[in-house]
Amino acid sequence: MSISRETPLPVLVSLQGNVQSIDMSIDLLEGRTKTSIAVLLSQFMKAFMPKLLSTIKQARKVNTRKMSKEELLATLLSKIMPELEAKRTIEKIISEGAFTLSELIAITVFKTLQNLREDQIHATSYHDNEYEEMLMLLKRLDIIKPRLQVSICPRCANYLLAISSYPPHSAICPKCRSEWVTITLYTIAPSLAKLKIENADLPVFISAYLKTKLMGKVFTDIKIHPNAVLNINNKKAEIDVYIPEFNMAFECKVFENAGARLTRSRLHSIIDKLKFKIETFLKIGVNKIVIATNLPSKSSEILENILRDIITDKYMKDVDLKVIPGDEVTLIETLDNIINSLAEIISKKISKSLRISFEGS
Ligand SMILES: [Zn+2]
Repeated sequence: MSISRETPLPVLVSLQGNVQSIDMSIDLLEGRTKTSIAVLLSQFMKAFMPKLLSTIKQARKVNTRKMSKEELLATLLSKIMPELEAKRTIEKIISEGAFTLSELIAITVFKTLQNLREDQIHATSYHDNEYEEMLMLLKRLDIIKPRLQVSICPRCANYLLAISSYPPHSAICPKCRSEWVTITLYTIAPSLAKLKIENADLPVFISAYLKTKLMGKVFTDIKIHPNAVLNINNKKAEIDVYIPEFNMAFECKVFENAGARLTRSRLHSIIDKLKFKIETFLKIGVNKIVIATNLPSKSSEILENILRDIITDKYMKDVDLKVIPGDEVTLIETLDNIINSLAEIISKKISKSLRISFEGS
């Protein structure tokens, strides 16, 4: 069992518990595996060797009658086999051998996954707990699924290897009730298929994605609010995703029959609804607007151009407006671009404030 470190498989690895605590258990399990194999071998040889030697001696005498190789082997086996069977040595070897093998597999899987995880964390420059946080969010949003899990107990060296999409979830060793260490391999759902634009969780996904990725880049907690409700002039206004610090807002708009032809009347009704929303955003000082839709890319392009013209004409304002069509790839690309530009602004701000404090001192 091995997973190549260069694996192109989109996988993530979660680690729960104190991994240093199980060093002894791993040594013990590995040691137990080695010693029990050695013990088994010596038991086997003890039972086997005297009989083998005497049989060979006898066979040599008999061999003066020029036995064929096959005959010699048959004689040896006929003398040795009953002895082995009587002692049930073979069953013992098979059952104990399988047992030690599963220990070895569990440890190998654990170590392989641990290396994979360390490589990923190193490559993404995430902090350990940020990586876990991102994983939990992705899991909650059904974007990743568990495939393989190994738990090892630091106290009694009990272990559990589960190949399952629904592995047992326990932070505690069932044998001695100690807190044990669990490593889980997750695979990403093919092409983020779960991330349907129709999904009501879209604001939650967008905020989680922005938050975790930004944290990984700039190490500051930026306030990002999914499904925010604001009170504007005594009227309630809903914002799907609101980032006050950057005057940025997301509107997630799902249309029925999104694929239908964009007729003039249909276009007008869509524009009217969005125009109202954009005006609300402008009232609270938002000047970066992203509208995530389930429209085909041609329609979203038309919509973006018309909306931008309307805003520029009516408000004489420079508004950064983007309409995203209903495909995951464009959505992720757009979010990644936003993350990069926000990260740049943040690091500029940080270096500026550092400079000011230097000059001030
Ligand atoms: Zn235990």
